[in-house]
Amino acid sequence: MNSYDAIVIGGGPAGSTAALTLVRRGWSVALVEKTTFPRRKVCGEFMSGTSTAVLDAIGFGHVWRKRAGPEIRRLALFSGQRTVDAPMPAGRGGSFGRALGRDVLDALLLDKAREAGVTVLQPAKALALHHGTMEKTVRISIDGAEQSINAPAVIAAHGSWEPGALPTNLAKVNRPGDFLGFKAHFRSADLDADLMPLLFFPGGYGGIVWADDGRLSLSCCVRRDALAQARRVHDCSSASEAVHRHILATCRGARQVIGAARQDGPWLAAGPIRPGVRKAYADDVFRVGNLAGESHPIIAEGISMSIQSGWLLAEALSRVDASTQAGRAAAGQVYTAAWRRQFATRIRVASVLARIAVHPRTAGLAGGLAGLAPAVLTAGAALSGKTKSIAALQSH
Ligand SMILES: Cc1cc2nc3c(=O)[nH]c(=O)nc-3n(C[C@H](O)[C@H](O)[C@H](O)COP(=O)(O)OP(=O)(O)OC[C@H]3O[C@@H](n4cnc5c(N)ncnc54)[C@H](O)[C@@H]3O)c2cc1C
Repeated sequence: MNSYDAIVIGGGPAGSTAALTLVRRGWSVALVEKTTFPRRKVCGEFMSGTSTAVLDAIGFGHVWRKRAGPEIRRLALFSGQRTVDAPMPAGRGGSFGRALGRDVLDALLLDKAREAGVTVLQPAKALALHHGTMEKTVRISIDGAEQSINAPAVIAAHGSWEPGALPTNLAKVNRPGDFLGFKAHFRSADLDADLMPLLFFPGGYGGIVWADDGRLSLSCCVRRDALAQARRVHDCSSASEAVHRHILATCRGARQVIGAARQDGPWLAAGPIRPGVRKAYADDVFRVGNLAGESHPIIAEGISMSIQSGWLLAEALSRVDASTQAGRAAAGQVYTAAWRRQFATRIRVASVLARIAVHPRTAGLAGGLAGLAPAVLTAGAALSGKTKSIAALQSH
């Protein structure tokens, strides 16, 4: 069979959630994922407690609770010499976030979708998308050959960081102010189990959290120009090595946590990241996850936004006759409105926080303010979505 009700391009949290939710509503769904799982990914791996309602709704909550690391009940700011901590606000029903390695999370979620009846084409890369009169055709490369699959509804869930030939791929950019993402795992680190510190360092910001199986996840974003300077200062040919040394040299709290820890696997790099709000539905193609809109990872909300947007879209689609263009347009309108209500504020908050974090003067002021009134950290976390559970879809 090469004709489906929907084709999902990308098997990250957004794509798997959308596919799984639709298949549970009786749709036939094909999901195309270009990499072989499990695969590690640049990501801090923390998921807010606000997503547990959706995880439960798609039958994945118990898996996540069993596999993820400890509940994060406190957050901290490590800025220069200063370390401050404060309570993490709880989500609805007292839920707290936890971290699960993306190698584990993405593979388990995609397995769940496969078990539920999604046709998973993997490794298979979507190469092109054509609009026909009734259906769209996605050209894919699989097992060294090309083939076509068709569906009236296409959901682009391929993220925002990689260039490509699909009409939904974002144009490549290369500016000095771009942020590049880095991530590494560590073992035997020195950090309280329930604490998630936010790191401010010159030209960037990061986060540290205990994930599954005794792994500590350190991820960060560094401006391209600051990275070039760190490479000169530390005389490093490797960008990751320069980032590692730059953080250790400029952030006392990070030094205490990973100074004597053992690195587990190589550093990963990705980007540049593409923060901003984009069209959730355009040219009769739906976008979920990072592609619909992306926050600076300083607020660690990208996985939640991916899972929640995948679910919101599937809910909107399952209420219309999506075999018609009019039905899809109606779903697109409802989904777009729900998306903006749910995520637009946190994307703006994250941009402001990122601007504060990268400049030593503003970062120092923020550290000073948090030192005097740690409650500002809790308030910042609430503003960035840590208490905003998903609202039910409202008709438009
Ligand atoms: C440094 C850093 C730290 C972060 N930390 C956190 C955090 O702690 N918590 C949090 O919530 N968020 C965090 N994020 C953000 C989070 O990683 C993203 O928001 C999230 O991965 C987006 O999920 P997605 O499903 O939209 O896309 P992705 O996870 O990028 O998945 C897209 C999938 O599509 C596949 N694909 C791409 N092109 C094709 C194609 N042509 N054909 C087939 N498949 C394709 C890819 O292989 C990939 O598997 C962080 C980001 C960065 C940069």
